[in-house]
Amino acid sequence: MVRDFSKASLFCPLSLLFLAVMSGCTNQDSQQGDQDKVVSVYSARHYDTDQALYDDFTKQTGIEVKLLESKDNELLERIKNEGNNPQADVLITVDAGRLWRAEQSKLLQPINSDTLNQKIPENLRHPDGLWFGLTKRVRMLVYNKAKVKPTELSTYEALAEPAWKGRVCVRSSNNIYNQSLLGSFIESKGEGTTEEWAKGLVANLARPPKGGDVDQIKAVAAGQCDVAIVNHYYVARLAQSESAKNKAVIDQVGVFFPNQKDRGTHVNISGAGVVANAPHKENAIAFMEYLTSPEAQKVFAEANNEYPAVIGVEAAPALKQYGEFKADTVNVSAYGRNNPEATKIADRAGWQ
Ligand code: FE
Repeated sequence: MVRDFSKASLFCPLSLLFLAVMSGCTNQDSQQGDQDKVVSVYSARHYDTDQALYDDFTKQTGIEVKLLESKDNELLERIKNEGNNPQADVLITVDAGRLWRAEQSKLLQPINSDTLNQKIPENLRHPDGLWFGLTKRVRMLVYNKAKVKPTELSTYEALAEPAWKGRVCVRSSNNIYNQSLLGSFIESKGEGTTEEWAKGLVANLARPPKGGDVDQIKAVAAGQCDVAIVNHYYVARLAQSESAKNKAVIDQVGVFFPNQKDRGTHVNISGAGVVANAPHKENAIAFMEYLTSPEAQKVFAEANNEYPAVIGVEAAPALKQYGEFKADTVNVSAYGRNNPEATKIADRAGWQ
């Protein structure tokens, strides 16, 4: 389903809603001179606070944001289908592995912006400027506090050791988060070691992979497994929940940042790139630069309890309780580059 919040659609007959997204039907667009004061943003994010942010961008620059929110794959298909009649200027999606898919389909163009290059750490952006990380997401460990002492935890690697037999939960390797984790592993440790690790991990699973990251956290709380690998913002989301059930889940679990004594904990991104043939390339760059301002970084990151990508911007209050940690500094573009091998390794290891 496509949710369109662009102001343009408010001026359009309902039947033209779909077309409105494609072409715009405000008289603004048809007026000479005004036609460039627009940027079409295709986003896989769905947070109400994003709209407030885009309104602020419009206020500051006079550039209207036409927002199209949809699922990642649908956005990529749509951009492909626009072909010779390109509409999209900016693609926003989560996980460097998904940005790589856009890159592979040649849907993005290289951008050389001093602002983006200076503000976004080098390891969180594509080496050729095809996309830029805007927020960080950490794939961490959660453990059952009644069964595991944090001193028993150390690294992702250790979860493949015999001590963890029948105690580990993780979602399917079909999921891009795990493919990217494997991609980072390949980059740091090589394919052979990664495959050994994946096999050891699978051998230690408490149950066949099922559900998403939240389900793994719940399984840990329920004692179905002792430790799980999950993205940090799901823990933060449960911790913020008003539901007594979720509070009970969070009471049972502790969080742990693995690999603090070597390469650091695996970090992924939410990011954005300028679409190849973007009709409003300059506006697209201005929009992306705006998202690196301290105010925008805060709002953008806090919407999903992620960590701001720009150094010096404080993390959301909800994340302070987890403390500081050492993050892996491998370039996140490696995750996509290594994705084909990562999925093969997962298959060979029997990671469903
Ligand atoms: Fe997620």
